[in-house]
Amino acid sequence: MTQPRLFDHHCHGVVRRDLDRAGFEALLTEAGHAGGVFDSRIGFAVLRWCAPVLDLPPRSTVEEYLARRTELGYQEVTRRFLTGAGLSGLGVDTGYAPEPVLSPDELGAMAGAPAHEVLRLEQVAEQVAAGGCPAAGFASAVRDRLASAECVAVKSIAAYRVGLELPGERPTDAEVTAAAGRYLSTMDRLADPVLHRFLIWAGVDLGRPVQFHVGYGDRDVDLHRCNPLLLTGLLRAIEPSGVPVMLLHNYPYHREAGYLAQVFANVFVDVGLATHNLGSRSAALVAETLELAPFGKFLYSSDAYGLPELYHLSAVLFRRALAEVFAAEKLSDAETARLTGLVAEGNARRVYRLR
Ligand SMILES: [Zn+2]
Repeated sequence: MTQPRLFDHHCHGVVRRDLDRAGFEALLTEAGHAGGVFDSRIGFAVLRWCAPVLDLPPRSTVEEYLARRTELGYQEVTRRFLTGAGLSGLGVDTGYAPEPVLSPDELGAMAGAPAHEVLRLEQVAEQVAAGGCPAAGFASAVRDRLASAECVAVKSIAAYRVGLELPGERPTDAEVTAAAGRYLSTMDRLADPVLHRFLIWAGVDLGRPVQFHVGYGDRDVDLHRCNPLLLTGLLRAIEPSGVPVMLLHNYPYHREAGYLAQVFANVFVDVGLATHNLGSRSAALVAETLELAPFGKFLYSSDAYGLPELYHLSAVLFRRALAEVFAAEKLSDAETARLTGLVAEGNARRVYRLR
């Protein structure tokens, strides 16, 4: 079968610079620092699957790989990996850019596929706060800004700030005003359970899919507070709206996420970020998520950030893992093609209402 093109429904920009070894390693995993990365699954996977894209034999050494990368320059390297990923569309989260990165349009042009923006709810709130706003006007200012935004979805990073154990009910106007007052008086980083819940419901009211960071992430996250089962009450409350809830990453709680995708009509899951980090073990990751998750509720994302390699690497590993699942089921070619089409891009096009 030809390689299916993938709709990468959650990804980020890549950096605009050449990288030395420490810089490359720091962007390769969520550790954010160099050291030992190449002696782990993701390091093996880079040398195996990315080296050929740079005209090197698989299993080149780290030194050969990085030297070739420098020789080609970051622009050519980025072009090769984004083209090589074989994407049919991108959903780009523009809310994480600790340094200048490629914009959605630039990523889309390199990948040869349309790129759509996913807006971070917390960023919207922080922009409203920075613009100066009384506590009583905070909620409506956030809603107005969301209503005028051009985005296919919104994203909550409550997991990073307060964890996922959030009550299902909408906070009252009085609760939001009080919480906004506390936030606006300190202007610390937004981390208030009431405000995160308010933002999530503002996203639900917008009627576009709401993405949630779940599970694996950088060391800023308290992973034990990022089990998607903690969202159960909120998912029950959102379900009647019919608004799609997109649980991102999920590892190591991908089986829990698969359960939620099975039992809630509007819950969808992916295994972005973990796919490339687990390297060859991503086959088990995809298979375990699909133990319970219906194929119509499972999407592809890379969650690539910083390194263009991650766009390519995730796509390669994901296609292989998915093909293994179908092979194990001994499905007909026609059924395999139909379900591959759903996971690769059909589910994303339906959920994000893209043609
Ligand atoms: Zn992300």
